[in-house]
Amino acid sequence: MNAYKELSEYIAEVNDLLNTISILNWDARTQMPVGGAETRGKQLATLSAIVQERLTADRLRWLLDRAEGEVAALPPDSIERRSVEAVREASELFRRIPSQLTRELAHLRLVAGKTWAEAKASRNFAHFAPDLERMFALNRELAAVIGYAEHPYDALLTLYEPGMTAARLQGLFAGLRERVMPLLQAIVDSGRKPRTDFLERHYPVELQKAFFLEVAQSFGFDTSRGRLDESLHPFEISFTRNDVRMTTRYNPHFLPTALFGVLHESGHAIYEQNIAPELTRSALTSDLKGMYAVGGVSFGVHESQSRLWENLVGRSRTFWQHWFPRLQRVFPRQLEDVDAEAFYRAVNTVSPGLIRVEADEVTYNLHIMLRVELEMGLMEGSIQVRDLPEIWNQKMLEYLGVTPPDAAQGVLQDIHWSHGHIGSFPCYTIGNIMASQLYEAAEQQISGLNEALARGDYTPLRTWLTQHVYRYGRTFSPDELLIKATGRALDPAPYLGYLKAKFHDLYSL
Ligand code: ZN
Repeated sequence: MNAYKELSEYIAEVNDLLNTISILNWDARTQMPVGGAETRGKQLATLSAIVQERLTADRLRWLLDRAEGEVAALPPDSIERRSVEAVREASELFRRIPSQLTRELAHLRLVAGKTWAEAKASRNFAHFAPDLERMFALNRELAAVIGYAEHPYDALLTLYEPGMTAARLQGLFAGLRERVMPLLQAIVDSGRKPRTDFLERHYPVELQKAFFLEVAQSFGFDTSRGRLDESLHPFEISFTRNDVRMTTRYNPHFLPTALFGVLHESGHAIYEQNIAPELTRSALTSDLKGMYAVGGVSFGVHESQSRLWENLVGRSRTFWQHWFPRLQRVFPRQLEDVDAEAFYRAVNTVSPGLIRVEADEVTYNLHIMLRVELEMGLMEGSIQVRDLPEIWNQKMLEYLGVTPPDAAQGVLQDIHWSHGHIGSFPCYTIGNIMASQLYEAAEQQISGLNEALARGDYTPLRTWLTQHVYRYGRTFSPDELLIKATGRALDPAPYLGYLKAKFHDLYSL
């Protein structure tokens, strides 16, 4: 196993470089003064180029050829076989992508990020359209280089959610649409509007912060191996399992912003903190294709954990029956005329709106479905960039019954396309579906789970998730993980059942 050992050391250094890139990114998004942007961009570009060189180096090919021979007799799902496969796949991918295309994409990301921000500020889609056209053209080239059997979108999906395809997504969304749209209609028709005024009272930031951190720690977020900081756009990022950062944004006049933001990022953070220590600095804690040091296996599986802790745990009645008295002690005046049930209802209000990141559990996936349909159409050429604002508005009206007053609240609201992250939107919905499927399995397999949750004891749930999901890092594909944990591949039934039961109860349908 000499070559395998040497390959592991080689990849450990790649992982060190990727983690260093992550530290620079974290700093840029939380601490760096605006003046640092240009030189930081160069520092990141230099490090990324070094990683890419290493992943395509002849030395790596030489090691791979030998290591493959050494691990050939091991079981196909052994850590050794999976590590070598992951490195081989990434190395082949980077050798196929012309360096000219990589450079053009990197340059366009910078330019498009700027024109998108300007277009959004001036509510003028036409200002962003030429860059967006170029972005989709380059992504069609990228898809052709990566290769696909059926749809160009499939090639991009492999970067974010290995095993997912356009055809599988179309089936999933058709099923969701059929069940979620009548549910939404029934909620709107019920005319019920829970009281939410108290969420907008004054909640001092320092008190918010202390309370949310207390909840995150009760979930299992380990502050000796993690931090909570502030940033304009909340995110989680890890520099190995021993240093996991999450951020949030506080609004002193709207409690849910940071509350559910922290619960969401806690889910991402707990995933990273509970990856098996022996996978540290390995190929199975490195997204070598995305050039990102991350232990979670895919965007969808990662999102399943943020949503499981945020929604299935943090937006449940059981959760607020336990935590509301504590919250009320922290904010006695603000919550003096509210009880746990009223608070639970307020944070589960369903209201079809324009903005994805503000959407509730019922309408959220309709926002994603719209984006995925547009991305697929743009990739296959059935939709043209210039027609986007009109098609966007038509679909908003059809799915959510609302019409954006301008492009800033419509087609320009998300940053994703300007960054070239085409094919990542479906992972949010995949995450929702997976969260319910895993939670259902946990409920069936952990005796006394509900009693533990009622006591605010999250250890049994976190332990089960560690055993079935977290510890494996990137050893298994999303489908393999799900089949091992739940007995079947991605299945929307538990998610649809959850939505129906919860919102029929809340809205007395
Ligand atoms: Zn997330």
